[in-house]
Amino acid sequence: MAGNYETHEHDVIIIGAGGAGLRAAIEASSMGLNVGLVCKSLLGKAHTVMAEGGVAAALGNVEPKDNWKVHFRDTMKGGRYLNQWRMAQLHAMEAPDRVNELEEWGALFDRTADGRILQRNFGGHKYPRLAHVGDRTGLEMIRTLQQHGIHTGMKVYMECTVTRLLKAGDAVSGAFGYWRESGRFVVFRAKAIVLATGGIGRAFKINSNSWECTGDGQALAYLAGAELMDMEFMQFHPTGMVWPPSVRGTLITEGVRGEGGTLRNKDQKRIMFDYIHPLYANETAPTEEEADRWLALSTSGQMDKNVRRTPDLLPRDIVARAIHAEVKAGRGSPHGGVFLDIATRRTPADIKRKLPAMYHQFKELGDVDITKEPMEVGPTAHYTMGGIRVDSETQQSRVKGLFAAGECAAGMHGANRLGGNSLSDLLVFGRIAGLHAGRYAKEHANLPSLDAGEIQDAAQEALAPFNRHEGPNPFQLHEELKETMQTYVGIIRTEEDLSEGLRQLESLKERSRTIRIDGNRHYNSGWHETIDMRNLLIVSEAMARAALLRKESRGAHARDDFPETDKEHFAKVNIVSRLHGSTMEVAEIDLPPVPAEIKKVLEEE
Ligand SMILES: Cc1cc2nc3c(=O)[nH]c(=O)nc-3n(C[C@H](O)[C@H](O)[C@H](O)COP(=O)(O)OP(=O)(O)OC[C@H]3O[C@@H](n4cnc5c(N)ncnc54)[C@H](O)[C@@H]3O)c2cc1C
Repeated sequence: MAGNYETHEHDVIIIGAGGAGLRAAIEASSMGLNVGLVCKSLLGKAHTVMAEGGVAAALGNVEPKDNWKVHFRDTMKGGRYLNQWRMAQLHAMEAPDRVNELEEWGALFDRTADGRILQRNFGGHKYPRLAHVGDRTGLEMIRTLQQHGIHTGMKVYMECTVTRLLKAGDAVSGAFGYWRESGRFVVFRAKAIVLATGGIGRAFKINSNSWECTGDGQALAYLAGAELMDMEFMQFHPTGMVWPPSVRGTLITEGVRGEGGTLRNKDQKRIMFDYIHPLYANETAPTEEEADRWLALSTSGQMDKNVRRTPDLLPRDIVARAIHAEVKAGRGSPHGGVFLDIATRRTPADIKRKLPAMYHQFKELGDVDITKEPMEVGPTAHYTMGGIRVDSETQQSRVKGLFAAGECAAGMHGANRLGGNSLSDLLVFGRIAGLHAGRYAKEHANLPSLDAGEIQDAAQEALAPFNRHEGPNPFQLHEELKETMQTYVGIIRTEEDLSEGLRQLESLKERSRTIRIDGNRHYNSGWHETIDMRNLLIVSEAMARAALLRKESRGAHARDDFPETDKEHFAKVNIVSRLHGSTMEVAEIDLPPVPAEIKKVLEEE
């Protein structure tokens, strides 16, 4: 059934060529290993290129008081202390080196007056911390990593989708996939594999993600025996476009608020002063006057500890729920969002210089000139804190030889990610995953053997939709899935909604097993969509099941029927999903204990 397939052999295979995958590939290649990098889009087109506002690292260039401890504290607090503390620590300690390294490799960041890397304010970061290139930071990051990476000798396989991981006993032995253009099958044989396949935003109707974000790595790992963790925590970014409908969900960077933008309701009232979370009350300005003074001081590099931060820069979970509440109370903008105003806050020249992509995005997509008018914004599914459970030191999953990094891995961000902490996560944990996958490969002299039956099964699974005479259309099922997730597993949840969501997911799962595809394997978008559906259904089910189990509200997970944050039971557990026979098992696991010296860092002011 598998027919002809080509086989490629490597010490390490990296699946995904975004920031995490490229950084992992650079690390493993620089160890002298034979590395293959596989991606389902073109090299240079991974979702990371869309990143806008910046990369968080405590360089201390704008505020010298900044250091890894402050960044670590901000990250843990933003994650409502469900983060794996060791990952958050490694991230805060290593991010400055990774950003400086990018600069050495040729990245051109915006500069301070004395020529150092400029840093901007972002939600939940105590000090200006985001190194940036206008609002096109991801593009510069990918350009730099790619140019550096291709000289290390790695082999790149583009427009190639992996559909199954292969195993020899309890360890990985390779990956099975197909060329998107020809539909021909390909097998990668490898000692170690790094998954760096990004997020799952395409499970939701309103989302900011690229077409690639269909949860492939999470599903591949789950099917191979790894665990998914923290899946209940889906970040809804507060500021997606709400108009026109064709671009609903497209992201508006938090950099707009970092540069002074304010959120207003239809009565022109600045809304965020009414939504200051108790956790942030001591450090947030209660009046417009103080908030504006803070902004003026912080952007000119003169901090005053008696002047507190603007609530417009509270963490994303808080701001997204505030917008949701304003719209629900009938105080929203004409198209169901609120207003984001930068026009009255900065000069047109400043806006065009600091936010060029936002200026063009609104001009071209919405016919709005943001130097003159406010934007209409509302929450959009944006980032998954959950993903593959990995060891904090090595990024290895519970499957031997299988590593994960970047958005498809879990642990670093807990219940809510701070803006800018993803690009730094990709660099820090991409390197660590590449390093440990490389070490694992070096420890194993021979390539693992491949199981012909497993390859046969993978081919059969991929081809099954061509062999059916009737069945549903995959695009239609995907629309239904997005509707289900948006309605029942969205920004505010209840037991009733989640249970209904799970019922609908179950029915979609049944129907997706009968999808029928017309035509042949040659660039067949219906076939690609069918393969995505399997993955999207797995991650959606994990999200809904974990959300049902966590009976509290914390970070990005808001339950209307359990509005309080539970300081006892749920403060101490992460939720994992794993494959048990043919069903999904969801369980609570204890958070790792925090050592005394780390507790001290968390308590320091
Ligand atoms: C509009 C926008 C702006 C953002 N701005 C910021 C920001 O300013 N700062 C910040 O920190 N974060 C930001 N983020 C978040 C950040 O961009 C992402 O979390 C991050 O880029 C994810 O990187 P990654 O390397 O994990 O995966 P991705 O960049 O998503 O790359 C995934 C790779 O995996 C490949 N792939 C997927 N499935 C398969 C498969 N089955 N087989 C083969 N290949 C596969 C894809 O082709 C791709 O190459 C933003 C996100 C969005 C949507």
